[in-house]
Amino acid sequence: MNLEEFVIRVKNSQAIVFFTGAGISTESGVPDFRSPGGVWTKYQPVLFQDFLASEPARIQHWQLKKATYELFKTVKPNIGHDAIYDFERRGTLLGLITQNIDGLHKLAGTSEEKLVELHGTDRLVTCLQCGKQYAPADVYETLGDEFIAPTCGDCGGLLKSANVSFGQSMPIAAMQRAQTWSEQADLFIVIGSSLQVQPAASFPVIAKRSGALLAIINRDPTPLDEVADFVHHGAIGDFFRRLQGMLGDS
Ligand SMILES: [Zn+2]
Repeated sequence: MNLEEFVIRVKNSQAIVFFTGAGISTESGVPDFRSPGGVWTKYQPVLFQDFLASEPARIQHWQLKKATYELFKTVKPNIGHDAIYDFERRGTLLGLITQNIDGLHKLAGTSEEKLVELHGTDRLVTCLQCGKQYAPADVYETLGDEFIAPTCGDCGGLLKSANVSFGQSMPIAAMQRAQTWSEQADLFIVIGSSLQVQPAASFPVIAKRSGALLAIINRDPTPLDEVADFVHHGAIGDFFRRLQGMLGDS
């Protein structure tokens, strides 16, 4: 289907699900952490079991997250995040599933009940023992050049950034919500995800099998392009500018 036909489907859809990955945030200045020069090449992500077992691993986690925190203080949502929030305001957004931990969808206005952050968020710190939540500033601003891994003021348990680390189990309630939305969507739109990581790649497949129209907007080809009904390769911001123009025309 071409862009004009896709826009007609967007206009007629009442239960749109968006699925976003790193590609939607690059135009906000969030680098792909895996890319050369990305923060992951400086500080390796720590496996969850190592975090639990070793203080040096915990220090490494906090060094990586502190660098990320400094970056996240400066980045803002872009036209892609704003455009998805517009669908919520229009009442046609069933849900938004994101792989991103940068919190930019929430900053753009997307409400808690419309949002599943599959990999958690770096915009919160939680206690692994009692679940108490901390604002990142309250933790990171206390970490100088030399520090010990921070612990919970209430129970003494280990604190950790609220992202889902490698080796840490996916949040069950979030996964179930994402699955239900995928089954109920009439239009499922992937934005800026290479769809190469499971379980991320399973949701578009579930949606398609359940009868949704599947659209994939990404810079590069994805493994699911051939089963999608509409595919667009290019910059995300440019695509949303065109889409908004066409949606506004009628
Ligand atoms: Zn605690």
